[in-house]
Amino acid sequence: MLFEELKIFRKHRIQFVEDLRNANVPGPFRGRPVIDKEISPGDGQLLANLCPTGAIEIHPFSIDLGKCVFCNACQFAFPEKISFTNDYKFATNQRDKLKVFPGAPNLIKVEKKLIRKEVSKIFRKALKLRQISAGGDNSCEMELNAADNVNFDMGRYGIEFVASPRHADGIVITGPITNNMARAVEITWAAIPEPKILVLAGTDAITGGMFLSSKEVNRGFLDDHYIDLYIPGNPIHPLTFINGLLDLTGRV
Ligand code: SF4
Repeated sequence: MLFEELKIFRKHRIQFVEDLRNANVPGPFRGRPVIDKEISPGDGQLLANLCPTGAIEIHPFSIDLGKCVFCNACQFAFPEKISFTNDYKFATNQRDKLKVFPGAPNLIKVEKKLIRKEVSKIFRKALKLRQISAGGDNSCEMELNAADNVNFDMGRYGIEFVASPRHADGIVITGPITNNMARAVEITWAAIPEPKILVLAGTDAITGGMFLSSKEVNRGFLDDHYIDLYIPGNPIHPLTFINGLLDLTGRV
């Protein structure tokens, strides 16, 4: 333990994660899952019954990472059928690609053809973002803070959070968007000059997660706006967030 801390001290003033594109994330991190190709209808039904968020569908069998809270109950119950890998590069600009099916591992990525031209042209070298915690539980928010700390240091790519939407190129929403934050999300979005991007970070933001059926949730804002990036995770990992933005803005 002491040796580990000394190693960290020795690296002070140096970005601790030197290569954000190829860093290795050890367990117990749970990233993109893989599902064995042999899932019987009975096993599928059992898995669907134990999933707390309805992320598991059975016709056909799939796990929707937009709903999954990465609780590990499915892997715990059927370790030979489902396993969560340490692949953290699974942000995407296609909502339907967040579904994982049995069989060959389907990598989840940002589809270049769907990136708006102005996004890769204008934000390639610098991107300022305003974060809105819209009923969040501070878990994704903490990880977004971590993305900016000396360990991950996404600022090395010119990506930073700013205090005012007037200075921002887009918003990052965390949380399911509660009634009392719905108007604040609209106002913040309206205050950002064009062109701008919209990022949903975490399961709660992508689908409402555990809170989807709550009458205190109001997600109407998302019906009216194009979503540039979905960052799955509960909470998200800083590397998922940073790599997703780098792919969206066309960084090598
Ligand atoms: S890890 Fe995801 S898919 Fe598995 S049971 Fe939990 S919420 Fe459902």
